[in-house]
Amino acid sequence: MRTHRHPGCSFSLSKAGENCYKFCMKVVFLGTGGTIPTEKRKHPTLAIIREGESFLFDCGEGAQTQIFKARLGIAPIRAILVSHLHGDHVLGIPGLLMTMTQGNRSHPLSIIGPTGVSKWIRHIREDLAFHASFEIDVKEVGPERALVSSEYVIHTFPLEHGIPTMGYRFQEAERPGRFLVEEAMRLGVPKGPLWGRLQSGHTVRLEGGEDVHPRQVLGPTRPGLKIVYAVDSRPCEETVEAAVEADLLIHDGMFLSEDVDKARARGHSTAAEAAEVAQRAKAKRLVLTHLSPRYRGEENRFIKQACKIFSQTIVAEDLMEIELSHREV
Ligand SMILES: [Zn+2]
Ligand SMILES: [Zn+2]
Repeated sequence: MRTHRHPGCSFSLSKAGENCYKFCMKVVFLGTGGTIPTEKRKHPTLAIIREGESFLFDCGEGAQTQIFKARLGIAPIRAILVSHLHGDHVLGIPGLLMTMTQGNRSHPLSIIGPTGVSKWIRHIREDLAFHASFEIDVKEVGPERALVSSEYVIHTFPLEHGIPTMGYRFQEAERPGRFLVEEAMRLGVPKGPLWGRLQSGHTVRLEGGEDVHPRQVLGPTRPGLKIVYAVDSRPCEETVEAAVEADLLIHDGMFLSEDVDKARARGHSTAAEAAEVAQRAKAKRLVLTHLSPRYRGEENRFIKQACKIFSQTIVAEDLMEIELSHREV
């Protein structure tokens, strides 16, 4: 795997499609551009991959070709989570749905977003005479849990962008503590299936009749990963709250500081404003995305302005991947 480092930061990155080492969650930046796409930066689309499922956050025009370039496949897409109904974030949905049907997808797809997303999907179905080969479960949500499983919860929170816009927080459940081999041996639990049962939270009975409980052989529970997506938005308290100690904060970083007036007027953020959010939230890392095409080739200036406030910042690139491993405690 090819990796490179951004100056002043300690990120390990790879290009999409390369062989990757074991990871727990992977974030793939499929589109990192502004309202007008460029050759290098397509419209906003992000994929989070976990345990064979993928979740798309926004789905800009050209998303499906970016998915193919990244070799992610469309079958594993479990849900599309829409931040808001500006065209640059949703115009990739019709084409993607049609390709899914062409591929005879049969498993359901969730589409989640703010008020209006149902109407948008209805228009796609009706105006394009589109008949999906699979069930599309569309859900309009406010600030609440958007998607829940036993292993993770995706929460929404409101952003400031002039129209109803939602940020998303992908939070994994806590994981069981590390298995304490020496303790298991000391208690006389023989190596084999009983270890597995204890690790999965079951009490086991030894040959001598005594019970061993999981808490006796497991260390403290370990935190799950937390990824926060806040695009498009001004910096806001809700994002700070959602991103507290997040492993990764992906934030609108459309402008440089000299254009802060434009950021304010258009409901976006500067690199420095995004860095302040990350710093206040004590996030582990910040990725700036949704860069305005006016700054083509000036990525280093984004890094410079943001890293003055929050050193663990990088600027997203199309097809860049970030692999996240669980923190050990
Ligand atoms: Zn927008
Ligand atoms: Zn946008």
